[in-house]
Amino acid sequence: MKCSKCRRDAILFQRYSGLHLCEQHFNRDFEAKAKRAIREHRWIRPGDTVAVALSGGKDSSAVLFFLHRLLGERRDVRLMAITVDEGISGYRDPGQARAIAENMGVPWVTATFRDEYGITLDEIVGRKGTGLSCSYCGVLRRALMNRIAREHGVTKFAYGFNLDDEAQSVLMNALRGDADRLTRPMREAEGMVPRIKPFMYVPEREVALYAFLHVEGFDLAGCPYAGDALRGDVRGILDDYTYRHPATKYSLVNLGEALREPERVTGEGLRVCERCGEPCGRICRTCQVLDEVRRS
Ligand code: SF4
Repeated sequence: MKCSKCRRDAILFQRYSGLHLCEQHFNRDFEAKAKRAIREHRWIRPGDTVAVALSGGKDSSAVLFFLHRLLGERRDVRLMAITVDEGISGYRDPGQARAIAENMGVPWVTATFRDEYGITLDEIVGRKGTGLSCSYCGVLRRALMNRIAREHGVTKFAYGFNLDDEAQSVLMNALRGDADRLTRPMREAEGMVPRIKPFMYVPEREVALYAFLHVEGFDLAGCPYAGDALRGDVRGILDDYTYRHPATKYSLVNLGEALREPERVTGEGLRVCERCGEPCGRICRTCQVLDEVRRS
């Protein structure tokens, strides 16, 4: 097939746009979508220090490459990468993430659950089983990332979440009847470093293609504890439905954004943990998780 824009050989067909794209026009289209997300949300401003949460997988490696290309020449914005090693055997070799960041000349720092909390995720799963592994992992990783971010003056966290992730989250929240999550604004609570998601308008398969085109040595392994049954079901339903109605994921993401408009939401926001001083409710979820796993 030929590119719909220039008649070179196409490397991608976008069902939702009806376009065949060559490598050059794919890159242009991809980066335009990511720049639009940043521009519309005013996510990057002069003086920012942006840290990519770099797992070494395709999404975070792609977002690091994109931001390096976008910001590399700017003197008013700093870019760095942070890798958290949760301690999951056979998964997440921090050396791969380090090599990716170093190849791009991006400063890289790392931290481990073992050093920070005195326990690895493997050990937590050994005590508590796999049922809540993602919940514990997410809470502890977020708190650790936030602490490192403050140490390095980070003002924005960049994540590789893509259109599929975002659309799945909206549908999952709808299926759970979780009106709070559906309408919670995107702004972060005081004390938490705001998150940005430059690829939220880019389908997962296009992020994978972008990573294959630009990044060497990213990790293809999946986490052995990834087992969110609802997300797996929703992914299947959504992929099937989107095959017949190609704009569905965009519709869901647009719906999610419309529901999260700040003026529709009230709430007093989070406070600071009485025990560790991190932003949260009365006692933060990180301290609750650590209590639970240490007690067992
Ligand atoms: Fe942690 Fe779950 Fe992600 Fe594995 S899949 S790294 S357990 S959040």
